[in-house]
Amino acid sequence: MKRLTWLLGAVAFIAFIADANAQAPAGPVALTVRLPNPGQKLLFVDEVMPVKPGPLTLYYPKWIPGDHTPDGEIEKILGLEFTAGGQRVEWHRDELDKFTFLLTIPAGADRLEIRFEFPARDRITANLMDLTWDNVALYQAGSPTKLQIYEPTIVIPVDWKFATALETTKRDGTSITFKSVPFNTLVDSPVIAGKYFRSVDVTPTGASVHRYLDMVGDSEAAVKISDKQIAGFRSLVEQAQALFHSHHYDSYHFLVTLSDHTSVGGLEHHQSSDDRARSGSKMFADADHFMLDGSLLPHEYTHSWNGKFMRPAGLWQPDFEQPERAGLLWVYEGLTVYLGDVLTVRSGLWSADTWREVVAYRAANMAHRTGREWRPLGDTSVAVHYGAPDAWANWGRQNDFYPEGELFWLAVDMKIRELSHDKHSIDDFAREFLSVDNGSFVTHTYEFDDVVAALNKVQPFGWADFLNTWVNGTDPRVPLLSGIEASGWKLVYTDKESGYQNALENVGPGELEGKGVNALFSAGMFLNNDGKIIDVLWNGPAFRAGLAPGMKLISVNGHAYSTKALWTEIAAAQPLQISAEQDDAVVAYTIHYNDGLKYPNLIRAQGKTDYLQRILAPKAKDNGS
Ligand SMILES: [Zn+2]
Repeated sequence: MKRLTWLLGAVAFIAFIADANAQAPAGPVALTVRLPNPGQKLLFVDEVMPVKPGPLTLYYPKWIPGDHTPDGEIEKILGLEFTAGGQRVEWHRDELDKFTFLLTIPAGADRLEIRFEFPARDRITANLMDLTWDNVALYQAGSPTKLQIYEPTIVIPVDWKFATALETTKRDGTSITFKSVPFNTLVDSPVIAGKYFRSVDVTPTGASVHRYLDMVGDSEAAVKISDKQIAGFRSLVEQAQALFHSHHYDSYHFLVTLSDHTSVGGLEHHQSSDDRARSGSKMFADADHFMLDGSLLPHEYTHSWNGKFMRPAGLWQPDFEQPERAGLLWVYEGLTVYLGDVLTVRSGLWSADTWREVVAYRAANMAHRTGREWRPLGDTSVAVHYGAPDAWANWGRQNDFYPEGELFWLAVDMKIRELSHDKHSIDDFAREFLSVDNGSFVTHTYEFDDVVAALNKVQPFGWADFLNTWVNGTDPRVPLLSGIEASGWKLVYTDKESGYQNALENVGPGELEGKGVNALFSAGMFLNNDGKIIDVLWNGPAFRAGLAPGMKLISVNGHAYSTKALWTEIAAAQPLQISAEQDDAVVAYTIHYNDGLKYPNLIRAQGKTDYLQRILAPKAKDNGS
């Protein structure tokens, strides 16, 4: 481990030297992205790049920051055409890398014009656009992206408004031009625009650095947010300041897309976040949806410190072509899940009860991750795979560095509190590790040993062993629930479903994230609402009966399948006679399970101090900006 760390440090140092000697290409590149007809969901790209005659290599962004995988959407680009000095320039693609284009600029030419189209079905509707610049630009090989200057322009319908962390230099009807920025900053600065738009200043009273909540939706109703919800987001900014005592942006924009027709999820940036609500148009409309999306903005906001500013060395590269190493995502994402969720409660966006319900549900799922027997948590980081198959998820583990990260960092928090006799907590670690260089947004990088050193500074302990045992091994003694237990609570299974699980199952965003029937803890299977099996607990009751993901339940104990029928029969505590269809054949199965309903909940451990109350309590206001 030590040797590997040294070697990686040396590579980072060499990259730094190479970076310092790199030449900036002539600039700026004038990049224009037009959306002439939102209904077609097509972006028209025009890029004018100063060049010199001779060979030129151009890249399309491949490793997208925050995705941690080479998932740049190169397959989508259409109609690619290069011209220089009025002549069409032939191009060909590197056979070993589909993101690389090779050209020769003719003698006498000093400008290259690049044109292509990008269909963005999942980012555009008739009423809005969520633009990420990595989709719509080529850049030059051989020079760090921070030295390549771009002057971006967008052309959108005249009645649309927009928001971004970029500085606007002029709007002329449909055309908006932004101040020139380095290409890495451009890729880090998405734009939302739309017909139904609202921007709310959520800067806490007395602060000089501005934070904005910017929203676009497909209707006026979608961007209707209550005063109480706005107060929660203002409080989020306050509580983050109280936790980190720093900021790493000039101003910050929460860019929230509220649509039922775009993709969902979040992507972190230094000075903004691209927040596509899982509840779509309904996020602000009712309590259940707001709860399910409650931690989205706190999570992405926390990344401005943990992920964008402080970043694992393996996740920093001078351009978007060099591969990333994702082995420390259990810090980058895991700690962000924990701190983001804690901030969600401290700011009042969630109640402490909701936090406990969320953690109980995640803890139960992780306690049923049978794949812990063969696959270390750290390996889920190394082989990060967004969009991993849901089938056999418990045995395969998917991206467990998120949900297990929460349990892991709670355990770290409780360990610090226990060893320091309540003098210190993870808040001190957050300050020690994430709060250097207030005001700067130049990324700092770290390795495993730096995490250990920062923890030791807060509270001396055998942290390297603690982290290694949990993250890098398959030791069944990993104390998965130790943080919950040390905090004065315990995970139990009862016949009472929590409000959180109920909301997930009924209005939740998607299969496996909750929507459907999560009977993994009882009959050992997870189904969608139509009865299709999504996941089967490895060696659990349904597995032993012969059931598998992909089969569709037709009936349960003689009743036609419905979620209600399944829960009723499980509650009756008798074997389940199932008929299920697969490949046009219907087969009978018997699940030998008769232990009734099992829903996870956290209850107080008698006689132990309630530390969760302290962890989740709002912190006193920090007077910084
Ligand atoms: Zn994240």
